[in-house]
Amino acid sequence: MSRAITGATRVAGVIGRPIAHSLSPVLHNAWLEAAGIDGVYVPLSVEEAAFPAFVEALRDSSIAGLNVTLPFKAAALAAADNAHHRAVRAHAANLLIFEDGAIHADNTDGLGLLAAFAEQAPGFDPKAGPVVILGAGGGAHGAAGAFADAGCPQIRIVNRTLERAQTLAAEVGGAAFALDQAEAAFEGAIAVINATSAGLADGLALDLPLAATPAACVVMDMVYKPLKTPVLAAAEALGRRTVDGLAMLIGQAVPSFEAFYGRPPPAGVGVRALALKALEGAA
Ligand code: NAP
Repeated sequence: MSRAITGATRVAGVIGRPIAHSLSPVLHNAWLEAAGIDGVYVPLSVEEAAFPAFVEALRDSSIAGLNVTLPFKAAALAAADNAHHRAVRAHAANLLIFEDGAIHADNTDGLGLLAAFAEQAPGFDPKAGPVVILGAGGGAHGAAGAFADAGCPQIRIVNRTLERAQTLAAEVGGAAFALDQAEAAFEGAIAVINATSAGLADGLALDLPLAATPAACVVMDMVYKPLKTPVLAAAEALGRRTVDGLAMLIGQAVPSFEAFYGRPPPAGVGVRALALKALEGAA
């Protein structure tokens, strides 16, 4: 990075544990450099038990704000004085802003998800039919809230633990399904979104009956490592349009950048190519 850090440099960052794999510094610093903003974006990590005290200490600091990733998203919401309804509904915050001694929480994951659909599935209309969300954790909550806000007529939650699907479905006025009922959930769906972490730890991908989706259904996977996940590969083989998790990651970073540095990221910066290069390097 060729930018000089000065006493006036505006500092923001991302906190998680682990954090070394995070692509967010790559995105934000590329935008800062291209925009000529005197700002920097740094990776941060603390012991889980130390997170609340760490955030509290930043309340009156010169730090503009933090993106928050696993495992701190719920704790970040709890640490805030006030929260956007997106974060309340997701039961999680991915963005903390420190301003005038107050801590504000938000969740831009849902905005990122809709931006990813707009970019990679042009013409997709969330109002046009039922959407299926696989999972009932933080990512699924953010997705369900975003689709509810966007006017989706029915949100179907499919989850390994049916009880958690029922709880989330009740929150958004949707329907709940167990994993072995996925075929019924896929009927007439305009989109299927994988918001599970299945396969990440054990390499065992979800075996989904994607052939039961209509031909025009768009399939999205929040996971972006690998970029073409087994779910996306199976969808592509069936001829379905697909949306990847990297587009969502970049989409959630856009409103975060604006919150930290007071203006949207500059257009035309090849952050996707930079992120892909960083992903390759980490492989
Ligand atoms: P989470 O809160 O831990 O939820 C995990 C979900 O996955 C739960 O619904 C869980 O089901 C399900 N699950 C886990 N292992 C499974 C398996 N073997 N078979 C079936 N279901 C399984 O995680 P999260 O924060 O929602 O994140 C989910 C994924 O989305 C992660 O891979 C995360 O990295 C990704 N994500 C990406 C972005 C992005 O910007 N691209 C943003 C947010 C999240 P149970 O309820 O039955 O345990």
